[in-house]
Amino acid sequence: MTLTRTQVRDLLERHGIHPKRSLGQNFVVEPNTVRRIAELAGVGPGDRVVEIGPGVGSLTLALADTGASVTAVEIDDALVGVLAEVMAGPGARRDVRIVHADAMEVDWDSVLYTGPGGGDPGDGNWTLVANLPYNVSVPLVCDLLDGVPAIGKMVVMVQKEVADRLVAGPGDDAYGLPSVKVAYHAVGRLVGRVPPSVFLPRPNVDSALVEVVRRPEPAVDADQGRLFGLVRAGFGQRRKMLRRSLAGLVDEAAIVAAGVDPTERAEQLSLEQWAALVDASGPVGANS
Ligand code: SAM
Repeated sequence: MTLTRTQVRDLLERHGIHPKRSLGQNFVVEPNTVRRIAELAGVGPGDRVVEIGPGVGSLTLALADTGASVTAVEIDDALVGVLAEVMAGPGARRDVRIVHADAMEVDWDSVLYTGPGGGDPGDGNWTLVANLPYNVSVPLVCDLLDGVPAIGKMVVMVQKEVADRLVAGPGDDAYGLPSVKVAYHAVGRLVGRVPPSVFLPRPNVDSALVEVVRRPEPAVDADQGRLFGLVRAGFGQRRKMLRRSLAGLVDEAAIVAAGVDPTERAEQLSLEQWAALVDASGPVGANS
């Protein structure tokens, strides 16, 4: 079971809750959409799911219905109360743990390593499934890829424009640091589109579903700090040629030695070319 538009509206009204734009509160009120997301996530009994921003619980219910064990991290204390009520409501017995915390600040070790379904997290054993708050979706995906190896797969709903940034490749308009970060740690792909009509309140933009599957090892063998130092500098001045945007970090001769044309721009370089620039730019510490 999950929540219909009328049920979400009633819940919000009864609890005197007005969706907060600042927290990206657009709730899914279309049962087929949350079922589709749970299906795309491919989770079931015995699986450990973490949801960021459960809101009033539409997706949480669909995830719990698969038989998976769900840990839901919500920042808004008013919603935590509603969520507890919804999870205790009619339906099958659910394995849902609600954590009241800011997903940008929380200690993920303590969230994922404790509670029902916890114990040994095992790298890559958790699946993140979430309709992410739009204002923190990019840093959340990037930070979790960088710092939480227990999460091996993500199926996230984000603004279409953010989805494009996460899965873009060299030469795409949306290609940037988040695209390189995803490619370094994982394989990302667009797995669906979602219209504004399934949300309450209705946003002004289209949304999309992205699947991110972590690689067993990063795609290239390069020092991460130095690699992303260069990528950040390059995209910081994305319209400039590399010999300008990377000035002071990699000299022109080293760019050539890496097999890269110094008149190219950051948006044209593949992950492998970024890694070659790290190799050519000198010993560890040279540009960190
Ligand atoms: N999952 C629900 C759904 O699909 O209907 C709600 C999704 S809504 C787009 C985003 C949710 O994330 C809201 O419940 C909001 O309060 C919560 N949120 C926003 N920032 C957060 C943060 N930093 N940490 C945890 N939750 C956050």
